[in-house]
Amino acid sequence: MMVQYLGLKAKAGDCLLFYRMGDFFELFFDDARVASATLDIALTSRGEHDGNPIPMCGVPVHAAEGYLARLIKAGHRVAIAEQTESPEEARARGGSKTLVARDIIRFVTAGTLTEDSLLDSWASNMLVAVSAIGDSVGIAAADISTGHFELVNVPHGALEAELARLAASEIIVTDGFIGAPLGAIQRPNAEFDSLAGEQSLKQLFMLSTLETIGALTRAELSAAGGLLAYLGHVGQGTMPFLKLPLHREVHDHLLIDQATRDSLEVNSGTKGGRAGSLLAEVDRTITGAGARQLATDLAAPLMDKARIDARLSLVQWFHDAPLLRDAIRMALRQLPDIARALGRVVAGRGSPRDVGQIRDGLNGARTLRERLGNADDRPLLLDQLLPSLDGHGAMVDLFTRALVAAPPTDTGQGGYIAEGYDAALDSLRLAGRDGRHAIAQMEARYRALTGISALKIRHNAVLGYFVEVPAKYGDALLAPGSGFTHRQTMAGAVRFNSPELHEEAVRITQASGHAVAAEAAHLEELIVYVLDRRDAISASAEALARIDVAAALAERAVEGGWCRPTFSDSPELHIDGGRHPVVESALSKSGDRFIANDCTLTPDRRLWLVSGPNMGGKSTFLRQNALIVLLAQAGSYVPASVARLGLVDRLFSRVGASDNLARGRSTFMVEMVETAAILAQATPRSFVILDEVGRGTSTYDGLAIAWAVVEGIHEKNRCRCLFATHYHELIRLAESLDALSLHHVRAKEYKGDLVLLHELAEGPADRSYGIAVAKLAGLPPSVIARAQTVLSKLEKGRAETGGLAAGLDDLPLFSAALNLAEARVDVLRDKLNGLDIDSLSPRAALDLLYELKRAA
Ligand code: ADP
Repeated sequence: MMVQYLGLKAKAGDCLLFYRMGDFFELFFDDARVASATLDIALTSRGEHDGNPIPMCGVPVHAAEGYLARLIKAGHRVAIAEQTESPEEARARGGSKTLVARDIIRFVTAGTLTEDSLLDSWASNMLVAVSAIGDSVGIAAADISTGHFELVNVPHGALEAELARLAASEIIVTDGFIGAPLGAIQRPNAEFDSLAGEQSLKQLFMLSTLETIGALTRAELSAAGGLLAYLGHVGQGTMPFLKLPLHREVHDHLLIDQATRDSLEVNSGTKGGRAGSLLAEVDRTITGAGARQLATDLAAPLMDKARIDARLSLVQWFHDAPLLRDAIRMALRQLPDIARALGRVVAGRGSPRDVGQIRDGLNGARTLRERLGNADDRPLLLDQLLPSLDGHGAMVDLFTRALVAAPPTDTGQGGYIAEGYDAALDSLRLAGRDGRHAIAQMEARYRALTGISALKIRHNAVLGYFVEVPAKYGDALLAPGSGFTHRQTMAGAVRFNSPELHEEAVRITQASGHAVAAEAAHLEELIVYVLDRRDAISASAEALARIDVAAALAERAVEGGWCRPTFSDSPELHIDGGRHPVVESALSKSGDRFIANDCTLTPDRRLWLVSGPNMGGKSTFLRQNALIVLLAQAGSYVPASVARLGLVDRLFSRVGASDNLARGRSTFMVEMVETAAILAQATPRSFVILDEVGRGTSTYDGLAIAWAVVEGIHEKNRCRCLFATHYHELIRLAESLDALSLHHVRAKEYKGDLVLLHELAEGPADRSYGIAVAKLAGLPPSVIARAQTVLSKLEKGRAETGGLAAGLDDLPLFSAALNLAEARVDVLRDKLNGLDIDSLSPRAALDLLYELKRAA
């Protein structure tokens, strides 16, 4: 056995090996140590290997899913070794001592799950393969629980944002991939061969050319090859469900890098979970598939006005028809997760329950289609979706006849094929039932015959049927000629057999064995039926998800009094009465009101410098505008009274200084790296929010950096930008930068106390109110008084020397500095001149900043 085990373990590589022994999966050696610690189960030992006891632990097969889930969550991968023949087959093959053959039938990894219990119903589960060829990177991504499959080719610089969008559960890369994402699994280079990838794609989808998918690059083919090879390995030959890949272009959607997603808390809140995120705040979907679709939509807002408007029109239709919306949402509540059930069926793990779910889901889809089809003024997108909801009538009818109403997951006991579907099956079942009836009669007869009223005919898995009497009557039946043969003596009872009982029992066992086999054969037929129609079924599932999302967004819009955004060709951002959805709902829970604010960015006033006291609402204002852009392009209503914008190609947010010590970077370094990325990548169509840039370093450095960054954004990037700062000195930039305008969050002092109005107003803040905020926060009066004294001293000093920005009055214009002909010899400006922001590495940026500091 150990030889067999070690052979399988070698095949399992760094995966934990679940070795099937009877009703248990056993783990040995280090696997046992790891699993017992992770699962908190007993570590025992069994036999010896090289003279040492072999550590062992095990989990019961019927409860294995729960344990698998915990191992996967803890970051492990598991290989499942099953018995591939029965003990009888093994004996027939090589005598009574022959070891049952076992083989790895499947690897369970985070990115290749299909079981409901191992997956979150509201989140996609992406497996991503990445391959770099030359200057392009190919990404192949699949969610095998639903069959979603996509390919995209990106420049190196956009890889991070794409991976952030996909939020992969598992990433695989070529062996030795440079700059591999954290936790990526390296697979042999040969599996990423682009020619082989092309072949695999053609074979899988039975295509003679891949043009149907699009013009694929070698990098994409290579990534696709790697992905398919890995899936083949993981499924040990069984290919999961994959739809024809969607060929994406990077520019199809709004690019948002990970730092921006984190700072805007798109998918997860500050505490890491879903709570407090934009997604949680917006999500009113009913179905798991709807929730997954919404998450996907928010992760990749669109860049195509027509597609966005198509989505919005559907949302509006539901928005304007509350009764219909309620009815549809009520109907969606009844629907099972067809997409995931289909995923399991295609992966070869479909149960009667999955087939039943597909039936019920498609049946519900048909009803929905009738309802929606009868409604007036249907938007275009709905008319495109409706046909996919239908066309399964014959299958639904067949499955309704074939399966019971609520089929079980387990096939062992049968009982899932409905009565009346197959006459032969019915008569087998009848024979079983008759047999059981006959046994009941036999019991009555035996009681009369023996005079023992406590006599029972019972059944268990080991003995089958037997006659049982209390111990004190045992002797009566043991007597020769009684017609009973002894089988077992228990503490309080004795068990017997009789020829008559034996005969009946054999009849029952045979009948039910045949019945179970007949049911299994029918299930197989139904599964083939499903497989033949998988694309149509999956299209129905997608249409349902899309309808769920639209109705849910309408519901959310009504709840919050949101408006439908409109789009223009000019790079503007015009928002009236904008609100931050998450902050607003948090405030409303404590009975507070959110103050709505306007924001108007146009090409000639595209950069707003927002100042004002801490806690005044600056970052909330910045973020709410970014979130409104994101929601609008994802096809949602937005928390505002009017929103009109020119499409945004990239969204950047650098808000607050969050430490990233885990990655060994100081706050300031992180801030600079992110700022460098923005300066390098933002285009005139981008939207950037920057909060307190420069806060992480000394006042002089900070001001100098903030100053230069604002100028850089204004002169070079020319994007729409909101820049929040507490450096009062920056307001002088308004004199030299035409498209910059000054704004502040209002505050006033009332009877010596600070009142934050959270209201945006034109012009610079009159002062910083730092000490007032400190007082508000509860600093002791003695400290506040002392700070007042220090402040007046400092302010007096500043008035005398010209203050922090004393030397800046004769600083030449940033725009002039870009013009070599006009250049004056100036250390700071020389540096800026020679600077190619696009090619600057984070490290070089930091060095440069230190140099600037020295030169300032
Ligand atoms: P700042 O960036 O200026 O320090 P924040 O944006 O972090 O300020 O806001 C501080 C707090 O003020 C928020 O947590 C919120 O409770 C409240 N707040 C912000 N904006 C508003 C608003 N528009 N209406 C009501 N309360 C607000």
